Amino acid sequence: MSAATDGKKATRPGNYFISNYPPFSFWSEDENKRVEEIYENGPKEGVPLGLYHHIPFCRKRCHFCYFRVYTDKNASEIRQYLDGTLRELEMMSQKPLIAGRKPQFVYFGGGTPSYLSAKQLVELTDQMKGYLSWDEAEEVAFECEPGTLNEGKLAAIKEIGVTRLSLGIENFDDRILEINGRAHRSKEVGRAYERARAEGFEQINIDLIAGMVEETDENWRRNIERTIELEPDSVTIYQMEIPYNTTIYREMKDAGKLVAPVADWETKRRWVKEAFAALEEAGYSVGSGYTAVRDKERTKFVYRDSLWGGADLLGLGVASFSHAAGLHYQNLTEIDDYLAAIESGRLPTKRSFQTTEEERMIREFILRMKLGRVDAGIFTEKYGVDVLGRWEKELEGLSEEGLLNVVGGEIVLERDGLLCVDNILHDFFLSEHKTDQLV
Ligand code: SF4
Repeated sequence: MSAATDGKKATRPGNYFISNYPPFSFWSEDENKRVEEIYENGPKEGVPLGLYHHIPFCRKRCHFCYFRVYTDKNASEIRQYLDGTLRELEMMSQKPLIAGRKPQFVYFGGGTPSYLSAKQLVELTDQMKGYLSWDEAEEVAFECEPGTLNEGKLAAIKEIGVTRLSLGIENFDDRILEINGRAHRSKEVGRAYERARAEGFEQINIDLIAGMVEETDENWRRNIERTIELEPDSVTIYQMEIPYNTTIYREMKDAGKLVAPVADWETKRRWVKEAFAALEEAGYSVGSGYTAVRDKERTKFVYRDSLWGGADLLGLGVASFSHAAGLHYQNLTEIDDYLAAIESGRLPTKRSFQTTEEERMIREFILRMKLGRVDAGIFTEKYGVDVLGRWEKELEGLSEEGLLNVVGGEIVLERDGLLCVDNILHDFFLSEHKTDQLV
């Protein structure tokens, strides 16, 4: 049995989820000058543009959170931050790579975008639209913490053009929410969901985490039943991981523990498998290793699909990630450093990575694998690469393990393969980018 399927492994600290390629640990300050250069040329024809705005504020820090978030900023500090992001957008929107383009998708992530007041949201987005109109955006996605959503706030979120509202519920049990440091409680979830439905958002997504501290079989079943009762348009389920910069890891370290106090990988995968099976029975379709949608014709996730397919992404704000004409980069990760750079008219770049065409091909391949189905023809057409031949040995090995099949020019992941897809993906990395697999 390979590392990919050795499900009994306990949850140890580190990052499991793969969101980009090459891995972030290979990005560096050495090529930051490239960021300025790349924006001086026009875009490649046909490449869509996305806009990401990062709101790094939260009511409370969850114990499993690995993002840089601020829980102590007052209204004037928040205003100062938002002004900084607007100056960044103004500066970037004039660059040849961006000027004249209209975003295909817009994403507000965090942190907690819904932490902003209705007034702050309307003012922020009015000004953003003045610099870069999003009147042609196919999707405007917005992450919310249920406890921050009152009626006025939801109406404002609808008014600014949000089409996809994502509710970070994570769990419906108050005790589990409390033990894990979450700010909201189940009562707020019910109210927020009803109000959001009443506002008539095109798409409501519910986020859950399988394997929060003290999760049990019985409680997990109740989470799934409750989710199905609410009938969201899509459900996203992450398997709990414990990166190093989380409160849970710090507590483990202080207590000299190597194993996190959460379920092992086999149990977390079983929970997601059971959830997917119940959702399928309720009429949902599984569309990736993490998502199920109620109506696959109607419910799209433009941000994910376009970005994974190679779109440019202009990320605004502290610690945000961007992808510009083949260059990956991340903004400075401390709010003061970020604002100081913006005020002096400098790009707030922390680290970057110039990809080669081969790395872009691998990136697209591994991200498409997360959807559970890869059409090899796309890669022949776009990159002139026969992916089935290039990775024949790897695909054969995974097929022997029962994790995927190659059928008529398509790689189709089995459910068990899809549930450990992040682990499988390491097999397709260039040898110089292979890092420790967690599971
Ligand atoms: S709400 Fe999200 S971003 Fe904020 S602390 Fe919790 S996990 Fe982190």
